[in-house]
Amino acid sequence: MAGRQGEHEHEHVRVAVIGSGFGGLGAAVRLRREGVTDFVVLERAGSVGGTWRDNSYPGCACDVPSHLYSFSFAPNPEWPRTFSGQEHIRAYLEHVADTFGLRPHIRLDSEVKHMRWDAERLHWEVETSSGTLTADVVVSATGPLSDPKIPDIKGIDTFEGKVFHSAQWDHDYDLRGKRVAMIGTGASAIQIVPEIQKEVRRLTLFQRTPPWVLPRADRAISGAERWLHRQLPFTSKARRGLLWGIRELQVQAFTKRPNELGMIEALAKRNMYRAIKDPVLREKLTPTYRIGCKRILLSNTYYPALAQPNVDLVDSGLAEIRGNTLVAADGTETEVDAIVFGTGFHVTDMPIADRVRGADGRTLAESWQDGMKSLRGATAAGFPNWMTIIGPNTGLGNSSMILMIESQLNYMADYVRQLNTLGGRVALAARPSAVNAWNRRVQDRMKRTVWNTGGCTSWYLDDNGVNTTVWPGTTTEFRSATRRVDLAEYEVVRLPKPADTESKPRTEKVGA
Ligand code: NAP
Repeated sequence: MAGRQGEHEHEHVRVAVIGSGFGGLGAAVRLRREGVTDFVVLERAGSVGGTWRDNSYPGCACDVPSHLYSFSFAPNPEWPRTFSGQEHIRAYLEHVADTFGLRPHIRLDSEVKHMRWDAERLHWEVETSSGTLTADVVVSATGPLSDPKIPDIKGIDTFEGKVFHSAQWDHDYDLRGKRVAMIGTGASAIQIVPEIQKEVRRLTLFQRTPPWVLPRADRAISGAERWLHRQLPFTSKARRGLLWGIRELQVQAFTKRPNELGMIEALAKRNMYRAIKDPVLREKLTPTYRIGCKRILLSNTYYPALAQPNVDLVDSGLAEIRGNTLVAADGTETEVDAIVFGTGFHVTDMPIADRVRGADGRTLAESWQDGMKSLRGATAAGFPNWMTIIGPNTGLGNSSMILMIESQLNYMADYVRQLNTLGGRVALAARPSAVNAWNRRVQDRMKRTVWNTGGCTSWYLDDNGVNTTVWPGTTTEFRSATRRVDLAEYEVVRLPKPADTESKPRTEKVGA
C-alpha cells in the first residue's frame, strides 16, 4: 500500500497519479493490475469524477455512446440510455473506484501545488494542499477540460448580476424569470440552451461562430437489451465493437478526405431547417467552414429552442460589459440579469504545466511556450519519469477518448515495467530528438486533416495556429504506437554507484 518513508525525507511512493477522472482512475486500476500497489491518486476536489463531476449544468450529457464511453475492462450492462447523462457517468466512475479497490489510494482535497524533479535523488517532490510527498514516477491525469476559461471581457467587473461558467454551475441560483445571456455555442452551450430556455424570461445567445449540429440518436436502452448484456457479456462487447468500428472507418474522412464531408453537412442543414423557418435566422446559423473542423455537435433540441419567442440570437461575440448591459462586437446592446459563460477550457495552456518543474529548472509551461510537444502523447523532454494521460495530440474528433486513455495506460504500464526491469534507482528521460521526430510525424499527418484545412479556428489549435490537441489517425494506429516503450527513445538515468557518490547521476545508452 502507498506510503513508504524510510530513506526518504517525506512519504515516498512509487507512483503519484494526479487527478481522479477517467484518466486517473484508469491509471490506478492499471497500476494495481501490474502489481504496483505503492501509489496514490491525488485529487483536488472532494470526490472523484473529473470533468464529469464538475460539469453538472442542466442537460449535461455525453456525445459518445455509453457502451463506447466506458472502460473496456469495466463494462456496464446497465447503461440506461444510448447516450449517458452526466449523472450516470459520474456514478459509473464512483462505481469503478469501489469495484477496483481504489479508495485506499485516493487522497481527496489534495491539490497539487507544485512538483519538482530532484535530479540528485531521481524522484519527484510533490507539494500538495494536504502535505508533501516524493514519487519515483508522476502520472499527470489532470485532463484538458479541467480548468474553465472565461474570456477577458472589458468591463466584466462592472456587471452587477450573477455570473458563472458552465463547468461551475450555481445550482442555488434560480434562473426562472430572469434575463439571461449565454456566451458561446460549443458542446456545453448547445446542451444548456434548450434546458434553460424553458425557464428564463429572455435568453440571449451570443454566437461568435455557428456550430454544425447533427441529430442525436438518443433512446432508452430496453430492459431486454440490458438483460442480454448482463447474461451474455459478449453481446455488450459486440455492441462496443460495432460502435468503435463505425467511428474507426469514419475518421479517414476527417484525416485524409475532408471533401467527403459535404454529405454530412447536408444532414446537419436539414436538422436546422426542420426547426428554423426564419430565413434570416437560418443564415445566421449556417456555418461557413467545413463540418468537423470544430467538434461536430449533436442535438435534437437546440434549434427548436432557438425558434422560441423568448430567445434572441446575437451573431457576434461578447466584446464589452457596461454595468448590466452586454455589448457585442457588432455593437448590439442587451441588458441581462445573469451571464452564463460556455466558453470552454484552458486546453493548450493547461494551468498544471506551470506547476511542474523539470530537470533543468524550467516549468513545463516554459518548456512548452512555443506549443505543447510530447513523445507519443505521454512524456516530455526535460521531465524524466513524468507522463501525462491525454497529453498533446491524443484528442479525438469523432470517437471515444476512453480508447485513447486506455492506449496511454498501456504505455504507462510498460514504462513502469521497463523501470522495474532496469532495476535500482533509475529514470527514463525522453530524448529531445525522439520528441521532435514524433512531433514532425504527427504534424506532417495533420496537414491534410479537416481540423487544419477546414477554414475555422477552434480550441484544437494553439495561439500559433498549431494543432497540438488532436490525434491525426485512427485509434488503432495510436494503440499500436503506444503498446511498448521504446528504450531507444529515452536516456536511462541512474544514480551513481556508492563509490562515486560525489559525481552526478549518469546516463546510459540502451538499444539506441
Ligand atoms: P468550447 O467548445 O471551447 O466552446 C467555447 C465557445 O465559446 C465557442 O462557441 C466560442 O466561440 C465561444 N466564445 C468564446 N469567447 C466568446 C465571446 N467573447 N463571445 C461569444 N462567444 C465566445 O467549450 P465547451 O462547449 O465547453 O466544450 C469544450 C469541450 O468539452 C467540447 O469540445 C467537448 O470535447 C467537451 N464537451 C463534450 C460534451 C458532449 O459530449 N456532449 C458536452 C460538453 C463539452 P468560437 O467558436 O467563435 O471560438
